[in-house]
Amino acid sequence: MRDANCVFCKILDGVIPSTKLYEDNDFAIILDIGPATFGHALVIPKNHYANIYEMPEEMLSKSICLAKVWGEKLVKAFHADGLNLVQNNGLAAGQTVYHYHLHLIPRYDGDGVGDLWTPGSLSDEQRKEILEKLA
Ligand code: 5GP
Ligand code: ZN
Repeated sequence: MRDANCVFCKILDGVIPSTKLYEDNDFAIILDIGPATFGHALVIPKNHYANIYEMPEEMLSKSICLAKVWGEKLVKAFHADGLNLVQNNGLAAGQTVYHYHLHLIPRYDGDGVGDLWTPGSLSDEQRKEILEKLA
């Protein structure tokens, strides 16, 4: 399963070069070309799924298990102080490559990478609206 216009499919086919850290039948882990921090890597399924909604559950589970093993490996190897797993779906969420991927971002004290959000507040009306819309 490939998409001819997809940059990650091209990487997986070797048409675009990449630095591969790991590979098995279903996944590759490569270094991000525009890293947030030292060692920022991407877990990418070999089949083309545009986002999390298209990912079969078994593949999703595997991607998280790989993130656990490889996230810890990166943290230990680079003496990082923390680890972010980031997974974007849709333009509004910051997705730029429409082939599912899971970011492994080692974090370092004082690395200057911004927080994803500033905490807001949850009103009683919002709480009610949320619960009603999910009912
Ligand atoms: P998104 O914003 O979709 O969650 O993340 C896409 C990521 O893919 C970005 O962090 C970007 O730096 C990375 N990326 C885009 N093109 C390439 C490429 O050609 N090679 C590699 N290694 N990473 C890429
Ligand atoms: Zn693709």
